[in-house]
Amino acid sequence: MLISGSNMLFLQGMRKLFTDIRALHGIELTPKALLRGNEMGMVNSIENAWLLVENGCFAGWGSMNDGNLPAADETVSLKGLEILPGLVDSHTHCIFAEPRSAEWEMRLKGATYEEIAEAGGGILNSAKKLRTMDEESLYEQSLWRVQRMIAHGSTTIEIKSGYGLSTESELKMLRIARRIGKNVNATIKTTFLGAHAVPPEFKGRQDEYVSHIITEMLPAVCNEGLADHMDVFCDRGFFTPEQTLRLLEAAAKFGLPSKIHANELGITGGVQAAVKAGSWSADHLEHIGEEEIACLKSSEVMPVGLPGTSYFLDIPYTPARKIIDAGLPFALASDFNPGSSPVCNLQMVWSLGCSRMKMLPSEAFNAITLNAARSLRLENSVGSIAIGKKADFWTTETQNAMQSVPYFFGVNHAKDVYLKGRTN
Ligand SMILES: [Zn+2]
Repeated sequence: MLISGSNMLFLQGMRKLFTDIRALHGIELTPKALLRGNEMGMVNSIENAWLLVENGCFAGWGSMNDGNLPAADETVSLKGLEILPGLVDSHTHCIFAEPRSAEWEMRLKGATYEEIAEAGGGILNSAKKLRTMDEESLYEQSLWRVQRMIAHGSTTIEIKSGYGLSTESELKMLRIARRIGKNVNATIKTTFLGAHAVPPEFKGRQDEYVSHIITEMLPAVCNEGLADHMDVFCDRGFFTPEQTLRLLEAAAKFGLPSKIHANELGITGGVQAAVKAGSWSADHLEHIGEEEIACLKSSEVMPVGLPGTSYFLDIPYTPARKIIDAGLPFALASDFNPGSSPVCNLQMVWSLGCSRMKMLPSEAFNAITLNAARSLRLENSVGSIAIGKKADFWTTETQNAMQSVPYFFGVNHAKDVYLKGRTN
């Protein structure tokens, strides 16, 4: 929807004014926590706009046509450019030792993801390589990947552990994630995913590994304050709903909220476990039916689709239309990882949401901004252009960006990415 007028907050501090913006998208007049059902089709834009940033936060916006520009310490003309709010990638596994392109080639020859996992590939292959890689090299590689994500417009990024699968290596991953959070201006949130797979030393003793996570790994992670959330791969061949609930209850005792992997490989009770545990999100959901949708409707759990995984593994896409048409909110994320979704570009995820999941461009945009922020309970600080939120945004030369970015898929439309009002 095109809107007019202006909105401003008067604060004391460094004021930076961006002028001549061809179109400013993703504005919120009255900020919402999330968008459900029909609301997901709404995106507010203003043409020929100005945008004011004060102390790293959005402080005002309006139309250049109105004539009255606010005073500022610095003015930057963005003639010919459009602005979109920073994208929120709420589900990534971007800390890994090596790509798994050899396994990809195995799959191209006919092996399934589960067959590769059984043959010692998959997550366990990543774990083997990560355990032996020194922390500094792993940090450098992971930082590089995070910078690539930022360059594609992602300004809030969640990072999971889960390729360590031992106390020492999980701590190594989470320390790296925290260190990245300190050294980039993007907002980084961390998730402990010790229950990503059962490591070889616990083979056949899955319940014992769950107990080990609860009694050793989780306390060690929490004592160092390394995680913002807990995650479990609740699915066929991985962890059962009962084990998931044990793990999430233990995490809750440490004050850790949860975001879980659910229903990627089948209808396996993951959604029900997430709802029962009061998880912030249930991610994947490639396999869900009426029962799961009804269950989600009774909860505050954000359903999250990961279309990069469906594209790369050639598995069904999450039924986004069914979820949205049921009046639920819906978010999208990259699932950036070396085995099932090697995509760092949320603009591509936006496009897949449209082309493969039949979401409208506006719906898929809200799914990688405000609703994704909600899945991290960060909707008050990121996810839209609203007064007081972090001035995270990106510029693009692409005209009519709300449609053209997902339409011209496979390229990076971001020109400059601003984090708290400064170019990255
Ligand atoms: Zn994942």
